Amino acid sequence: MASIFSRIVAGEIPSWKVAEDENYYAFLDINPLAEGHTLVIPKKEVDYIFDLDDETYAGLWQFAARVAKAVRAAVPCKRVGVAVLGMEVPHAHIHLVPLQTEGDMDFRKEKKQLSPERFAAIATAISEAFNQ
Ligand code: AMP
Repeated sequence: MASIFSRIVAGEIPSWKVAEDENYYAFLDINPLAEGHTLVIPKKEVDYIFDLDDETYAGLWQFAARVAKAVRAAVPCKRVGVAVLGMEVPHAHIHLVPLQTEGDMDFRKEKKQLSPERFAAIATAISEAFNQ
């Protein structure tokens, strides 16, 4: 069965998309640690990031770097933190989290509750920065 993220790429499940190309897709995490928390995935469905073929793996990080620059341009933050967990969804993904402090990267902390309008505004801002 396709992963939830493959179903997002296929358009079967909605997402707050921020960037896409032929091989990669980036969208807002629905349970964000901070406004602008973004997930970057390969369209190719592989569970564990370190099992990706070399080309897809390298391309994923290159695409994530471009998305991170757009996140930083669109969301006020000191840095964009990077994490790979994969404890929940078995489809390789990189978390990009706008940081004000080190504690913003604590995945055990309570997630932000955002309205659909806020998610949409953030996604639009990141997407516009990405496409500039
Ligand atoms: P992990 O696999 O531990 O890296 O966590 C998976 C992440 O995916 C969590 O931060 C979830 O909030 C996020 N997530 C799960 N389902 C969705 C979805 N449909 N749209 C956006 N983010 C999701």
